[in-house]
Amino acid sequence: MLVLVINSGSSSLKYQVRDVAQGSVLTEGLIERIGVGNGGGGDGEIEGPRDHAEALELVDAAIHRELGDQEVAAVGHRVVHGGERFAEPVLIDNEITRAIERLNPLAPLHNPANVLGIRAITRKWPQMPQVAVFDTAFHRTLPEHAWRYAVPEELYTNHGIRRYGFHGTSHEYVGRRAAALLEIPEAEFDAVIAHLGNGASVTAIQGGHSVDTSMGFTPLEGLVMGTRSGDLDPSILVFLGRAGWTPEDVDSMLNRDSGLKGLAGNNDMRSVVEASEAGDAKASMALAVASYRLAKYIGGYHVAVGGAKALVFTAGIGENSHQFRSLVAGRLGALGIELDAGLNAARSREPRVISTASSAIPVLVVPTDEERAIAEATAAVVSG
Ligand code: AMP
Repeated sequence: MLVLVINSGSSSLKYQVRDVAQGSVLTEGLIERIGVGNGGGGDGEIEGPRDHAEALELVDAAIHRELGDQEVAAVGHRVVHGGERFAEPVLIDNEITRAIERLNPLAPLHNPANVLGIRAITRKWPQMPQVAVFDTAFHRTLPEHAWRYAVPEELYTNHGIRRYGFHGTSHEYVGRRAAALLEIPEAEFDAVIAHLGNGASVTAIQGGHSVDTSMGFTPLEGLVMGTRSGDLDPSILVFLGRAGWTPEDVDSMLNRDSGLKGLAGNNDMRSVVEASEAGDAKASMALAVASYRLAKYIGGYHVAVGGAKALVFTAGIGENSHQFRSLVAGRLGALGIELDAGLNAARSREPRVISTASSAIPVLVVPTDEERAIAEATAAVVSG
């Protein structure tokens, strides 16, 4: 079955056509600058559509060029927010589309764009089965003591203010692959999964289910990220408000100017590691803050799951930065965790163990593949 995976942003549309049985990518691309006029243009990019419908025409043309008369059987959408309703991928109809739209206030940058993508497909291919795969769904199993904020009840009942968690598709996929690699049945798999990309979150998995995760009401909570602050004292926001900062100023500072960028002046882990190795004290401090914060979460989640059977690294930094993995593991000696320097430094695209034989629990690197997970979930829903 060929599945078209769509990640629809407000001004971009990322797509991939996957052969689900083969696990292969047949073609992929990125349409940018939707509705914002023409831009510079890079290799392989198609630019300048007026809206998502026009962007979809470009995708359709590109797919036909690449695949000839092979037919796409279903479309899988990455949808950021599934609120409290969606715990599983679902077949999309008008009611589901409206339900996703009703969640717009919880993800104002993402859900409206996801809905634009869904509606564009509905208009172009009315008979095409479409499936929504939610970033939050895997975390619907969080117990209430993990998702509650200690604030007055009405914030939850009137505004939906609670912890939702994100990156669920990746955490679930990586957890499943890690369990398979270790030959532990999923239902018995207790682990800590660290998804470390430009956005970063860590999840506690117990019996194959998410029981805690570091992102909360929005993807801002938790770890130090490329440009996001992660955890901080909420009073800082009040303080800044009194000092004349607008909500937009604060939002932009916390989401775009903080994290590695705020600490080291650069949001790219590779550059920060290089700067640190060249003696840049700010870069070294940024790495120390980020690795310390993550190590605290890992320790906490080890407790939350009653003793993890594995620690798993994934995403851009987790898969590629042996330096950052080593910094984190270096703070986990109290858990008996010990990396094998050679295995940690080796480069590979395969899921693998990077800890020593005497490490108290295995440490793994498992490449994530959200598009693959979305394609598989879509095929599963469509074929019932
Ligand atoms: P992602 O959002 O998953 O694409 O991850 C982006 C992050 O991964 C950036 O901070 C990159 O610097 C980091 N990254 C990608 N490749 C490498 C690498 N080879 N070494 C260190 N960090 C890397």
